[in-house]
Amino acid sequence: MSEKSVVERLREIEGRVETALRRASRSTDTATLVAVSKTFPAQDIEVVLAAGHRAFGENRVQEAQGKWPALKQRYAGVELHLIGPLQSNKAGEAVALFDVIHTVDRTRIAAALAGEIRRSGLVPRLFVQVNTGAEPQKAGVLPENADAFIAECRNTHGLVLEGLMCIPPADDPPSPHFALLGEIARRNGLTGLSMGMSGDFEAALHLGSTHIRVGSAIFGSRPSATPAAGQ
Ligand SMILES: *Cc1c(COP(=O)(O)O)cnc(C)c1O
Repeated sequence: MSEKSVVERLREIEGRVETALRRASRSTDTATLVAVSKTFPAQDIEVVLAAGHRAFGENRVQEAQGKWPALKQRYAGVELHLIGPLQSNKAGEAVALFDVIHTVDRTRIAAALAGEIRRSGLVPRLFVQVNTGAEPQKAGVLPENADAFIAECRNTHGLVLEGLMCIPPADDPPSPHFALLGEIARRNGLTGLSMGMSGDFEAALHLGSTHIRVGSAIFGSRPSATPAAGQ
């Protein structure tokens, strides 16, 4: 078989991440490659775990619950990222399973997470999702409401935020969206930027991304029945 293996693709992406960071005069430990394993079965994920990778992303709480408790038991140091929309009735399950939640975007979620954090004593790292393209079908707070929502998360709900996340519109050049996210983060004193996917992570790293979310470039293409990113 001449097709590249998942581990070969992982190494290739790691190399491209390192090159992009050096070109941006950034040290190579300033960005995390989140391997997005949604739709892929546990045996595919194990290959990447066995290769030493530890940061993974899933977009559905229920799917992740089916795969990750066993994998987390077998491999120490896993860092699991929720990158898909969260419903408030799943907040408890999300807090129990995920180390990082990228999709805080409304009052109900902020309040539910605050309650679950108090109850459980578990403190996931949190990102606010911003709908930089103001797309009606996409999750995330609108850019003009971001400052107020960030203040609400902090002051009303007592949440500690790490950063912001965005998914640029599929048909737009991504860099203006990455730059806008960076601006909103800077003026709110946030250091984390979750931006960049398989097709645009190098541009995102150039504009300061700290967490790139790369799925298909590592695991291969997903079945076409899969909803597009960021529904
Ligand atoms: C699926 C998904 C990704 C990964 O997309 P690829 O194009 O496969 O790299 C990144 N972010 C989010 C929010 C996603 O849902």
